[in-house]
Amino acid sequence: MERIGIMGGTFDPIHSGHLAMAEAALEQVELDKVLFMPSKTPPHKRHSDVTGERERAEMVQCAISYNPRFEFSDFELKRYGLTYTADTLALLQQQKPDCVWYFIMGGDSFFHVEKWYHPEEILRLSTILAVSRDGLSQEEMERQKAFLEEKYQAKIQLLSMPQMDISSTEIRSKIALGDEVCDMVPESVMTYIDEHGLYR
Ligand code: ATP
Ligand code: MG
Repeated sequence: MERIGIMGGTFDPIHSGHLAMAEAALEQVELDKVLFMPSKTPPHKRHSDVTGERERAEMVQCAISYNPRFEFSDFELKRYGLTYTADTLALLQQQKPDCVWYFIMGGDSFFHVEKWYHPEEILRLSTILAVSRDGLSQEEMERQKAFLEEKYQAKIQLLSMPQMDISSTEIRSKIALGDEVCDMVPESVMTYIDEHGLYR
């Protein structure tokens, strides 16, 4: 049975933290591949503060080309209307019923997932691979894991990875201030950002 990880996000821009967690997932869970699936720009944010879908997608493609087990997916970008993770997983499950699905997320999402649209469906249809973030301790991550397992019969695995203090928000504001972000994004993404004048 094929084991596929999903790395969802705004990727505005994709950064080294995203790549590191996908690599950890590939190795520690023996996934066949990880799909990088950018989320759509919410309708109320079009034309304003979020980078275009096309630019975000192209940056993801630049960033992941080094690893043959990383794959770009436009599964959410190509859908119409609002796209929810629960719906995405249900559609994927229908299309490929023989696959085992894993959803990779950082600590902020892990503690927020109950507020997402139909969390019980997300947790039924996928195994969550969670990575700590923002100084969350191992103990806090373990407690949340136990809580979700108990409440939803969720399948959860914590990935072990040194915490990476990187966020797209910080990258955007650093670039706007003219600061260097070379240590936070792959070189190909840095080149793309420069060439397209993003985040200035
Ligand atoms: P933003 O600051 O714009 O929210 P972000 O860095 O959080 O950007 P997202 O695209 O929002 O990136 O995140 C996609 C997924 O990756 C989320 O589940 C998030 O928790 C996770 N993630 C992002 N950066 C890290 C990191 N440094 N460590 C662990 N998880 C991360
Ligand atoms: Mg985020």
